[in-house]
Amino acid sequence: MAHLITTLGPRTADKLGLMLPHEHIFVDLGPIAEKNWRAATPEQVIPVMAPEIKKIQAQGVTALVECTPVGVGRRADIDRAVSAATGLPVLVPTGIYREPWIPGWAHAATAEGLADWMLGELTGEIEGSGVQAAWIKLSAGDDGITDAEAKLVRAAAQAGKATNAIIGSHTIRGRVVRDQLDILEGAGYTAGRFIWIHTQAEADIALHLEIARRGAWLEYDGIGGGQSDESYIERIQRLLDAGFGHKLLLSHDRGWYDPSKPGGGVPKPFTYLVGTFLPKLRGAGVDEATIRQLTQTNPFNAYAR
Ligand SMILES: [Zn+2]
Repeated sequence: MAHLITTLGPRTADKLGLMLPHEHIFVDLGPIAEKNWRAATPEQVIPVMAPEIKKIQAQGVTALVECTPVGVGRRADIDRAVSAATGLPVLVPTGIYREPWIPGWAHAATAEGLADWMLGELTGEIEGSGVQAAWIKLSAGDDGITDAEAKLVRAAAQAGKATNAIIGSHTIRGRVVRDQLDILEGAGYTAGRFIWIHTQAEADIALHLEIARRGAWLEYDGIGGGQSDESYIERIQRLLDAGFGHKLLLSHDRGWYDPSKPGGGVPKPFTYLVGTFLPKLRGAGVDEATIRQLTQTNPFNAYAR
């Protein structure tokens, strides 16, 4: 039966309600050499992030996708500890961020070697944490995909085909998504198991529609951030009218404990979507069945294996 792979074990659809498909419990965006993330402990992170998790549990959120890959401080042990302290299942990725955050060992590896590494995490565990990877997170640069990034896409295609794990990529420009889908489809992977993370950053909605027609998932994951709620609602309605309501994900891309800041900094809450945005979406005439599809059915279908 299709299920999510989480820090608290497998979860089937009947055990889940609302999901946040793109958030962060822990990120270190600092230069890779500083490695602040290596010094952080679960005991430091739990008091900062568990209260934020409890706020969304009170809103009915039943699972959260951690979107921090290798290169920007992935810590499956910390995700697991925060999850255990709160009872919220968290989905942790395998995969590596874009240049210049790609570590030396990954530059040196072949696509086959990287696919084997991803497969090991998707079927076993991440770095002795006891956490099995749920999905594959990648990224590509804004000006085009580099050779190392393309190698990671080919590796992800192999690991994704073998496990049915979904691949999501932080990609700011729609034309770069086209190139990623060309590589994935060339490797025999289906666009239907790809999420265009940060779709909202591409100003040209014709590209949103083009990528959706190709079968990929679109993710509007900056809700409550720099763009107005009205602009999100307008684009959501365009996609619903075009028949792509079953391929759209909504989230904040918020959080997180930042180990480069004293005490981890001040996290941004994960509460805006349920508390503020969804009431506005209802007010704009989007019915309850559609809201349920966007916030429960779609994220489950995207991430389930
Ligand atoms: Zn993110």
